[in-house]
Amino acid sequence: MFIEILNKIKEYNRIIIHRHIRPDGDCMGSQMGLKYLLKNSFPEKEVYAVGDELPEYLKELGEVDIISDEYYKDALVIVVDTANESRICDGRWQTGKYIIKIDHHDDSPEFGDLWYVDETSPACSSIIVRMIKAWGNEVKMCEKAGYALYFGIVTDTGRFRYRGLTSEVLNNAGYLLDLGVDVDTLYNKLYIDDVATLKLQGYVLNNFKTTPNGVAYIYFSKKIIEKFGVTKDEAANLVNSISTIKGYPVWCAFIEQGLPKPENLAKGELDPSKEIRVRLRSRGVTINGVASRYRGGGHLQACGATIYSKKEMKLLLEELDLLVKQYKEEHPDAL
Ligand code: AMP
Repeated sequence: MFIEILNKIKEYNRIIIHRHIRPDGDCMGSQMGLKYLLKNSFPEKEVYAVGDELPEYLKELGEVDIISDEYYKDALVIVVDTANESRICDGRWQTGKYIIKIDHHDDSPEFGDLWYVDETSPACSSIIVRMIKAWGNEVKMCEKAGYALYFGIVTDTGRFRYRGLTSEVLNNAGYLLDLGVDVDTLYNKLYIDDVATLKLQGYVLNNFKTTPNGVAYIYFSKKIIEKFGVTKDEAANLVNSISTIKGYPVWCAFIEQGLPKPENLAKGELDPSKEIRVRLRSRGVTINGVASRYRGGGHLQACGATIYSKKEMKLLLEELDLLVKQYKEEHPDAL
């Protein structure tokens, strides 16, 4: 499969790499790592990485390329780290001449002309490294690609902590370290926070709520986000502030999106001004089924969803609470 992908890359002069909406470290690491690798290996080719605005902490990985629609008609499109077509950032991916998907999500349906999905890999960036290793001397790795891919692996494995970590992933990270990745700089980018975010973290620790059987959650209203002077992404990134509470193996954050109300909303259409992003996480409990019932999905223990009312939030929490109850009955020693 990797050789087929390489043959397609060789065949095309223009390659456009897409990723998912609401970018995270792994989709950016995969996208930019692949871009830098291909640029370094095939300098005569045009290689672009497209997508929407990046949160501050991802900007150092690279710029988003602005390209015209025309570019797609004879381009190879590679979509990384994205399970569903609806989550691919920039709908023009469909207009590419040939489409390849590379992903690691659970419930990742086939799309495009060629796909490689390994749902057991804890990071898509690690799959990209696997592919680069398989390509051997056909490609030329560089430090910039190494940094982006290491960033992806580190963030999606929770700094090499989560279940799903394998010796292959550690070996892939080691391979990148050998290219000279500056881990000091990288970890500073991930760990140094500004005052407003830390103050909001204090708020989270003082104000998170719980359900009877063991779900911890925090609700970020638009008002709170504004009061603390942070972005929605900065608030959302605090989800893991409540990840280590004994007896609460599921935790989540609700983030009001504060989008404008459209002038003409068709009957039955969801009102974007009511949109609430949900980030769900767990230790051991499989939660992506619940997420999929609330317009979401993702991994077994890390997923996202979108709801439109406090009523939906209540229902979602009830479903999660029931899951935790069952999980604790089956795993009496669970922390
Ligand atoms: P997040 O909480 O946004 O970091 O999402 C955790 C994981 O679930 C990531 O791998 C996302 O790509 C995936 N995910 C988030 N939201 C959705 C969604 N609405 N549908 C499918 N997958 C999602």
